[in-house]
Amino acid sequence: EILRVELGERSYPIVIGDGLLQQAGPMLREAGLAPTSKLFVVTDENVAPLYLQTLKTALEAEGYAVHSFVIASGEQSKSLAVYEAVMTAAISAGLDRKSAVLALGGGVVGDLAGFVAATYMRGIAFVQVPTTLLAHDSSVGGKVAINHPLGKNLIGAFHQPRLVLYDTSTIRSLPERERAAGFAEVLKHGLIADETFVSWLEANAEKLWQLDSELLSKAIYRGCEVKANIVSADETEQNQRALLNLGHTFGHAFEALCEYSTLNHGEAISIGMCLAAKVAERMGIAQAGVHDRTRRLLRQYQLPTEWPHKLDPAKVLEVMKRDKKAVGGKLALVLPRAIGAVELFSQVDEELILSVMNEES
Ligand code: NAD
Ligand code: ZN
Repeated sequence: EILRVELGERSYPIVIGDGLLQQAGPMLREAGLAPTSKLFVVTDENVAPLYLQTLKTALEAEGYAVHSFVIASGEQSKSLAVYEAVMTAAISAGLDRKSAVLALGGGVVGDLAGFVAATYMRGIAFVQVPTTLLAHDSSVGGKVAINHPLGKNLIGAFHQPRLVLYDTSTIRSLPERERAAGFAEVLKHGLIADETFVSWLEANAEKLWQLDSELLSKAIYRGCEVKANIVSADETEQNQRALLNLGHTFGHAFEALCEYSTLNHGEAISIGMCLAAKVAERMGIAQAGVHDRTRRLLRQYQLPTEWPHKLDPAKVLEVMKRDKKAVGGKLALVLPRAIGAVELFSQVDEELILSVMNEES
């Protein structure tokens, strides 16, 4: 199945299917990368033993010269130190302007390798080869970044890939907790834009959780499609793209206050999406029942919906106001009007948010 992100000259295909790693060679060639180009695969220590050799073999069979670099797994690798190490390896491997960086892994590898591609010689070609469910989100849209000790994703760029090659069979080896976290973003794409998709996700939750291959491909396809449509309409986040932040202003604050350890990103935004629904109902902008249905859906996919243990609502509010998506210190929140329809509200009453958080905690 092939989707396209439409961005004029920088448009690119997202290819989704079972067993695509083996076909990577011809697909890269079709995406315009000549086999004379050097390829530099960045991956992590968990993914490398599972899929690196398969990918390398497929690329070498097409005539590409392939170099690779394996990073430690986890968010800590999105750092300036690891960025420098990857750059050093890329320079030593002799990459030139015609070379391409491939990200084989989840969002961490994608964000880091993407930032390397965006900055190596002022930007070379980039290919995403996602291996997590969450990466259906992170691999589409061209946002790439590393973290600074003072904040997440503060050093980054917009750098669109030439191709997203999504082999859905790789999802099978993902730990269950990562699977749930990935579904959080799939559900988010439904909650933002498509009530019919949400109903389908509710009806098929059990089979999807068991990773039924056909249903999984459909879910990933539709999730990518929602994101791709929004990105095509608003590449650099002037307006619609902000809608993708449903649950994220709360979520980022939870992640930060839990020091990125007890809650992962998907878990944090799951709780955040519930809170957003509750705030929306309280403000009278969402129909009654939106919060209940949101919570039930998230639970079907083993996601947490309860207030994070021990967090102080006042502290959460403070961190939310520092989020880089906040403008001029005013709290802007994406809130649902209904299931499948959200809107950005630029000046939400802080007292109301605080009172909803106090009830939950
Ligand atoms: P991740 O890359 O850390 O992967 C999660 C874990 O699963 C890691 O331990 C990894 O080694 C392991 N893993 C990956 N694929 C596997 C497989 N197939 N089998 C077994 N284990 C596997 O995390 P993630 O959840 O994919 O991504 C989170 C990151 O994505 C965050 O840094 C977040 O900021 C970023 N992100 C970026 C965007 C964007 O638009 N750029 C959007 C959302 C999230
Ligand atoms: Zn997210």
